[in-house]
Amino acid sequence: MDFETVIGFETHVELKTRTKLFCDCPVKYEASPNAFICPVCTGQPGALPVLNKKAVEHTIRTGLALNCEINPQARFARKNYFYPDLPKGYQISQFERPFCENGFLEIPGDDGQPYAVGIKRIHLEEDAGKLVHSAGSFEESEYSLVDYNRSSIPLMEIVTDHERNPLRSLSEARAYLEKLRQILQYIEVSDCVIEMGQFRCDVNISLRPVNSRVFGNRSEIKNMASIRYILNALEYEVNRQSEVLQSGELVPQETRLFDEEKKITLPMRSKEDAPDYRYFPDPDLLEIEIDQGLIEEIEETMPELPDMRVRRITKAFGIPNGDVMILTKDKGVSDYFEGCASYCRDMKRLSRWMIKDLFKLLKDASLPIEECPVAPGDFSDLVNLIAGGDITDRIGRVVLGEMFTRGGSPGAIIEKKGLKPIQDTDLLTNLVKEVITENPKTVARIKDGDKKPIDFLIGQIMKKTKGKANPKSLRPLIEKILSEENS
Ligand SMILES: [Zn+2]
Repeated sequence: MDFETVIGFETHVELKTRTKLFCDCPVKYEASPNAFICPVCTGQPGALPVLNKKAVEHTIRTGLALNCEINPQARFARKNYFYPDLPKGYQISQFERPFCENGFLEIPGDDGQPYAVGIKRIHLEEDAGKLVHSAGSFEESEYSLVDYNRSSIPLMEIVTDHERNPLRSLSEARAYLEKLRQILQYIEVSDCVIEMGQFRCDVNISLRPVNSRVFGNRSEIKNMASIRYILNALEYEVNRQSEVLQSGELVPQETRLFDEEKKITLPMRSKEDAPDYRYFPDPDLLEIEIDQGLIEEIEETMPELPDMRVRRITKAFGIPNGDVMILTKDKGVSDYFEGCASYCRDMKRLSRWMIKDLFKLLKDASLPIEECPVAPGDFSDLVNLIAGGDITDRIGRVVLGEMFTRGGSPGAIIEKKGLKPIQDTDLLTNLVKEVITENPKTVARIKDGDKKPIDFLIGQIMKKTKGKANPKSLRPLIEKILSEENS
């Protein structure tokens, strides 16, 4: 029997706000434990929450970017459960009437057509604190401590629709996560730094016979932060579940744990359902009215979305689609590219130099593009010099390396390091003659009418000058000298 895969995501995104969701404690990452806490975010009796407006705006902005309906009234609810990192004994979340519902996110589907992945809802909730164990793991620890700095940091949860256009494969799952992260970065609601847990997913997956309308039982894998691990876990589950189903048994509905080392999932507990949490409207927080004016204001200030940017850059600069996709994947990268483009005379060369050379330097130095030591104006100057034939690619790379490590404009570096191309015709003529004398066999072939070995002679001269001759001017010079020898 053939099965089809149904994958769903609940993605928790840490919103970029100055303060927490219900108090004015700052959101800071590098701080000693419990440096930023107050009676509200540690659940002291009598402390009352006050909603952060920015977090609501970010949620609505995301809803609009993901084509959702924005509910005119939204409501917070208490999700009740006990855990030491949750001081109130409940998490403030949303149940009925989340801020946004019924949207979609378009990705390239496996069939090559655009596919609108259903978004069921987007809601806002608070994060929990963090347990710090005395040893490496909970089992080995003598005691655990709680750090509430993260408690009540705003989290936005984006839930895909299980029934309306779910994700159907691993490659669609990857495309969805990458596109979602890209959009959230573009609209500046979150930095989505995976290493800092700012983009975490609960993943669910089930299989059903092809063309069946009924859904199979789901496995859920909680709190996954790495896209690579998510895909590993999904791949394992596809194989495991199809084996169970092939053998005629049922897949139990359960929550499973991903073992990063063995790349397998293991049963953790039977899946809890909404009734287990006894959701009820939070009496401390009034119903929120979202007026049309606010929605319009957010719509008007919506930054350009990735798809729009791809279309605009393709049209404006005429660079190949593959390059445009790479340059727009990350907002910082495309901002940098456009910063260069306004000074640059050769867009194709600019994109190639960015993708091949600048990216490599950044990668080797583990720097994000935002911290690139080369200013866009200087980078364009360099590309202009190469495009104009003033310096060779090879010298260009030397200059770029210097700009990257020590700073400075390309002109100044070329001057200081004596990297200017050799303009002295007498010197070049002597070099050509030298190479001709040193390579009699090659020269004989050229004289017999084979033009190809001229490239070899050019290469020899470039070697002697350490790349400082201009290959374009060498060719006619070699031809001229050889024809003079012939006559
Ligand atoms: Zn607080």
